[in-house]
Amino acid sequence: MRIGIVGLGLIGGSLAIDLRARGHQVAGVSRNPGTCARAVERGIADAADVEPGILANCDVVFLCPPLGAIVDTARQVVPHLRADAVLTDVGSVKGPLVEQLHPLWPRFVGGHPMAGTAESGLDAAIPDLFVGRPWVVTPTAGTDEAAVTLLEGLVRSLAADVVRCAPEQHDRAAAWISHLPVMVSASLISACLTEGDPNVAALSRALASSGFHDTSRVGGGNPELGRMMAELNTGPLLATIARFRDELDALRQAIEAGDWDGVEARLQRAQQARPEFVDKPAAGERGTR
Ligand code: NAP
Repeated sequence: MRIGIVGLGLIGGSLAIDLRARGHQVAGVSRNPGTCARAVERGIADAADVEPGILANCDVVFLCPPLGAIVDTARQVVPHLRADAVLTDVGSVKGPLVEQLHPLWPRFVGGHPMAGTAESGLDAAIPDLFVGRPWVVTPTAGTDEAAVTLLEGLVRSLAADVVRCAPEQHDRAAAWISHLPVMVSASLISACLTEGDPNVAALSRALASSGFHDTSRVGGGNPELGRMMAELNTGPLLATIARFRDELDALRQAIEAGDWDGVEARLQRAQQARPEFVDKPAAGERGTR
């Protein structure tokens, strides 16, 4: 197939690498001529241009710019698409985007690969980023079913797990497992910065090891993406922050009261539940689509 990728950053670049590796022809669009040249030199795209006219013959086009630029980018791209082209996006919030993108293109299908790293830009692009990761597809009542099937087939060919759900369900679930963790992890780093004793502050930096690496990773990622998660998914995010504060308060109260059994019981519940989130069977085995 001929595939278009708009926005050659971490997600767009990684997608381009994998699709080319599977024999597809990839046309990239970047705002920066230098990025276009690098993408072609490094074999990430077959061709790349600053003008969306390069997408004219594409069967499928992925919109991969920052979350806040997806709708404007779509408006610039659609006049150049072939009438039967499938248009999709990779945005981390779905409800407000799907609502604005559906009317722009009859064969639009919302999507979100649940994969990433703390890096950004073309240089951060890596092969196999999506292997074994959920890729959410969010059709609505008016979505072209053949376009959904085509997108899902492409996603499965990247060894990602297709998960189909409504955009609003995606946003509530993503608030729990993606957007809340970014805010909690960033707040953890910020809290560490408030240590007033310079010696302790320096020592804490020197001692930080694998535990802090794991818990701070998503909070130390792309701030623009975190901002847009908050701006576009405000309601679900606020609901999860409120529940998180309740949980933290309950833990603090148990510690203040010296209720060590209560503390251990809470930690035991967390230990037992964690595999349900991180060691789960692939989506296909769960019977979801
Ligand atoms: P990124 O590495 O910063 O890449 C985005 C690319 O978009 C940039 O490299 C840039 O490429 C282009 N761009 C930047 N500003 C733009 C603008 N104002 N208008 C149009 N294009 C612009 O970001 P990313 O992490 O790949 O994220 C891209 C999308 O993937 C976002 O919508 C995000 O919600 C979604 N996503 C991210 C993750 C993650 O963990 N990072 C995971 C899943 C989904 P050019 O210089 O080539 O134009």
